[in-house]
Amino acid sequence: SQVLVTGSNGFIAAHCIAALLRSNHRVRATVRSIEKAEMTRDSLSAAGVENLSQLEFAIVSDPTNLTKFSATLEGCQAVVHLASAFTYDAAPGEFEEKLMIPAVKGTQIVCEAAKSHPSIRRVVIMSSFASVYDASLGLQPGAVYTEKDWCPLTYEDGVNAAAVPIAYRASKVVAERAAWDYVRGNEVQYQLMTLCPGMVFGKMIHPISSLSQLNVSNQIVWQVLNAGSDGEIPPTKAPVWIDVEDLAEATLRTLTYSGTGHDRFLVTEGSYDTQEIADIIRSRLPETQRVPLGEPGKRIADTHYSCDSSKAQQVLGMNFRSLEESIVPLARQLYGMEKN
Ligand code: NDP
Repeated sequence: SQVLVTGSNGFIAAHCIAALLRSNHRVRATVRSIEKAEMTRDSLSAAGVENLSQLEFAIVSDPTNLTKFSATLEGCQAVVHLASAFTYDAAPGEFEEKLMIPAVKGTQIVCEAAKSHPSIRRVVIMSSFASVYDASLGLQPGAVYTEKDWCPLTYEDGVNAAAVPIAYRASKVVAERAAWDYVRGNEVQYQLMTLCPGMVFGKMIHPISSLSQLNVSNQIVWQVLNAGSDGEIPPTKAPVWIDVEDLAEATLRTLTYSGTGHDRFLVTEGSYDTQEIADIIRSRLPETQRVPLGEPGKRIADTHYSCDSSKAQQVLGMNFRSLEESIVPLARQLYGMEKN
């Protein structure tokens, strides 16, 4: 079958495309410019992604334009929607334009366009753990989040947020709620699947030419790698995570598992903290000598909320790889990029 992937030049999207092609799906991938299409094909090819002949691109310069976006769905059986501004590069006053509208309108348009194409059977929206937890409650030791939980932020909270991470979290939860509202308020022929991943780490196969373009989640790892042996380990902000290839596999499985209704999945391996990243890199890449010692073995898990992804494990059959398996290849890649 043919799957439309939006935001296909991004970190997670590249792995979703690779997983889809590997399992013999055809992929139509949207990007905002021809240059980005070419760069994406080149980097997937350089990463050895299989079946690239089954990949085609569609240029959608404005993904909030329903008519133009809708045309890209012709002949597809599913949509995986990843395009969204995951950036902290916006100032108060810009949050509506830079974060809320692309996320919320972009998602509404996917849901609406998919309804007008009867061939579409599933729509997967990449939401976030940001749409699940309530950051205003602080660390909440002992609390366990599942996909039944919802972040309470509203559209207005996003527009008027005091800081950009709050606006980003609002953009994710309001966008996801818009998708659920759409399928509840309209008769749709497709099943809605939403995935809520924690911080996503792992090796990159999308187009990225310098460390200055690093996506937000992998920046967390780089900040530890680059802190300097007599520097300080940066504090941990959002302490739950998943490997990018596991997330791509979960995405693939939401397209193919036998569920008959709409569904929502929290997908995290579990807790992590920046001390754990430092401990892993010091022991596995001792030659780098650049990661602060901190307090080896100290973990914040007991001081913090945690996540329960057993639904994804049981329903989708997911097994999540360890932090070490995820960040060691990433660390090698990041140090390599720094050299070049
Ligand atoms: P990237 O920053 O690597 O990719 C983002 C993608 O979205 C790019 O294709 C980008 O295209 C597109 N995009 C950005 N801004 C806009 C906009 N205003 N309008 C349309 N498209 C836009 O991000 P990730 O791969 O990390 O994230 C992908 C998805 O996963 C997002 O929805 C994000 O919220 C979600 N997610 C990510 C997590 C993580 O830890 N990485 C955790 C939880 C959820 P362009 O290059 O043209 O700007």
